[in-house]
Amino acid sequence: MSDLYCVIGNPIAHSKSPQIHAAYARQTGQDLAYERCLAPLDGFEATVRRLVAEGYRGANVTLPFKLEAARLATRLAPRAQAAGAVNTLVFEQGEIVGDNTDGPGLVADIVRNAGVPLGGKRILLLGAGGAARGALLPMLMENPRQIVIANRTLATADKLVADFAAHAERLAVTGFADVEGSFDVVINATSASLAADVPPVPASVFGPGVLALDMMYGAQPTVFMAFAASHGAEVRDGLGMLVEQAAEAFLLWRGVRPDTASVMASMRLAR
Ligand code: NDP
Repeated sequence: MSDLYCVIGNPIAHSKSPQIHAAYARQTGQDLAYERCLAPLDGFEATVRRLVAEGYRGANVTLPFKLEAARLATRLAPRAQAAGAVNTLVFEQGEIVGDNTDGPGLVADIVRNAGVPLGGKRILLLGAGGAARGALLPMLMENPRQIVIANRTLATADKLVADFAAHAERLAVTGFADVEGSFDVVINATSASLAADVPPVPASVFGPGVLALDMMYGAQPTVFMAFAASHGAEVRDGLGMLVEQAAEAFLLWRGVRPDTASVMASMRLAR
């Protein structure tokens, strides 16, 4: 029987992860099955325990369970510990190991796929929720000059920076309207695009030579991408990040890193 994996969320029908992992399995010759798993909003833990009992080898975790997954894990990888959020579970030897591949996926997409190194760069990170949390440590590991975090609720951004006190000299917090100066990379880690909304940052943060990445993805460019492009920025959606975080999870589970470029190309064609 194939090794079993799934992605747990609520809702989950929209998830592209089964297609991505099926493509990785074909490409690497790994014998696995990967499906969607809808967990009741109050039933994440029970769902994970059922999967473990049924012999699943691991799972991805998506909205709204990433924080609960971090609490449920019996062991956390350092990057999941830093993020306080888990998107990948490995079930091994009676343990539920929690990891976070979202941030590494984002960095891989910016550095490798977009060809924009982050070393010495000034980055504007919009949002301070789970996705921003996951992105922070992997981005700091690239040695940027500064990461400015702008969020609607300032207290949440302050808490995020307080949790990364060891890196405080390279972090700053501001409200959207108070963002100042120019940036090399602007990352939208808010969920504003879901409501066709754009965080109200000054248009001057975008311009030629700026990479503006929205973590969200869809058939059409998001309103954030359209706004940034209209002010001269190069834009990117979150599909690359999704494909890259899946590759990192696949590596954790199977010990083999799949090639992402071909899968990304076929996902773009399929939209
Ligand atoms: P959270 O709910 O944890 O955080 C949401 C963030 O968005 C908060 O900072 C919140 O601010 C802010 N926000 C929400 N609505 C608005 C708005 N109308 N205007 C301005 N700010 C707003 O969500 P996640 O961090 O988990 O996800 C964020 C986005 O990233 C989602 O769109 C998600 O789909 C995407 N994502 C993509 C991934 C990928 O692989 N491409 C992986 C993970 C996430 P406040 O603190 O004030 O509430």
